[in-house]
Amino acid sequence: MSTLDNILEEINNANTIVILTHENPDGDAIGSATALYNSLKQMGKNPDIIIPEYPRTFEFLPGADEIKKESNIEKYDLAISVDCATIKMLNGFVEYFENAKVKISIDHHSTNTMFGDYNYVSPDAPACAQVLLVVLEYFKVEITKEIGTCILTGIITDTGGFKYSGVTAETFEFVAWLLNKGINVSKVYRKVLQTKTRANFELNRLASDRLEFFENGKVAFTYITKEDEEKVNAESGDHEGIVETGRDIEGVEVSIFIRQTDKGCKVSMRSNEYVNVSDVCLLLGGGGHIHAAGVTLQCTIEQAKEKILRQIKSVI
Ligand code: AMP
Ligand code: MN
Ligand code: MN
Repeated sequence: MSTLDNILEEINNANTIVILTHENPDGDAIGSATALYNSLKQMGKNPDIIIPEYPRTFEFLPGADEIKKESNIEKYDLAISVDCATIKMLNGFVEYFENAKVKISIDHHSTNTMFGDYNYVSPDAPACAQVLLVVLEYFKVEITKEIGTCILTGIITDTGGFKYSGVTAETFEFVAWLLNKGINVSKVYRKVLQTKTRANFELNRLASDRLEFFENGKVAFTYITKEDEEKVNAESGDHEGIVETGRDIEGVEVSIFIRQTDKGCKVSMRSNEYVNVSDVCLLLGGGGHIHAAGVTLQCTIEQAKEKILRQIKSVI
């Protein structure tokens, strides 16, 4: 029996199912969670999605209005984690995962620690939503407009609008198929990627102002503090995209962005060509993908900056 057969069997056997994803959820996290939610409903199940907080941008997704902040079910029959590399990153909802009778991880991070009883991980896929598409087709779920929109959102956001190197022929085949089905791809694109909140713009302005170059212009570094976020009334997701500003400057290979949170310095790293930022972050205790990775460090911004720049020096 293949892993997907096992997963299907567990879904069929479960009465209570919970869908979970990583903290600070992005478009792929929410898109994958809602795509799975709508699909499980189609399969006759009544799952819960538990995500305490997520960006307003994704409120329009079918099923998002049913996302719960918590649940009174303590022990689910089945927990499915999507777009999450480690159990640590499930953070606020880790008990729902750990208490569940059966645990599944569906993901696309090469650094996934295989923390489920069953793990379906495709590191070559540009988004978890694209992995899910394969899974749902295997389960013979009909990809409705609603499910298609959720999957499309995950793909658009994790590929930076179809432009990252992880994009495959299947990505475009799927989008062509969605267009044939009458889904307004351009409208979803504008909603999930092009529209910035005012707070996001203000944070970007601050971070751009502070941006510094190192290693002959091959490294760009910037940060935002908790006070910055308070000053602009930032909400969940308002820091998204800041790390890309540095990465898109001519000559830059690695862009580093630090965001101060209650849990420490949340570091985001992006590279353009030859630096494997996932390896760099792994050494510091984090992980991710070759060109997009992260780590949380328990120290000041200055100390984190020094630590990272030292590590980058050897690979740039
Ligand atoms: P971010 O910069 O937060 O957008 O993260 C970039 C990528 O790295 C995402 O795919 C994250 O899931 C992953 N990532 C970020 N932080 C960590 C971490 N501490 N451990 C493992 N993966 C991470
Ligand atoms: Mn994600
Ligand atoms: Mn993802």
